[in-house]
Amino acid sequence: MEQENETHWVDQHGGRWEKRPAHETGPFGRCPRCAQGHIFTGFLTVRDHCEVCGLNYDFADPADGPAVFVQLFACVPGVIFIVMLEILARPGLWVHLAVGVPVLILTTILPLRPIKGWLIAAQFVTRAQEAGTADLWAKLHGADRR
Ligand SMILES: [Zn+2]
Repeated sequence: MEQENETHWVDQHGGRWEKRPAHETGPFGRCPRCAQGHIFTGFLTVRDHCEVCGLNYDFADPADGPAVFVQLFACVPGVIFIVMLEILARPGLWVHLAVGVPVLILTTILPLRPIKGWLIAAQFVTRAQEAGTADLWAKLHGADRR
């Protein structure tokens, strides 16, 4: 069972890890507890546990949260840019291919990983879970989920 105090996380082996805000670890793919290990094995695949502090990532379930943030804050402005390019400049098809495809890749795929990492770190720091599932979680994973 993990304990905590005001400034540190304390793991089951007595290791003490300085508490950090989610935005200092997750967007960089770093473990939200130790800030040294990694969250991901591939581009978006979450590890089973942190290789440094052993934090079990079973809690990590951002679901479609990263996609929502990407759509709202990156993809929509990117599409608006492409539409405005057509309206204002009426460029040829090759310009849309040369500009539009990279804009869509930059605004949809690249932000997914840092946003997913940030949401996972925020889940850990705030101990967030789906509303009403605390009893189910305790039944499936024991009394404490960390
Ligand atoms: Zn760690």
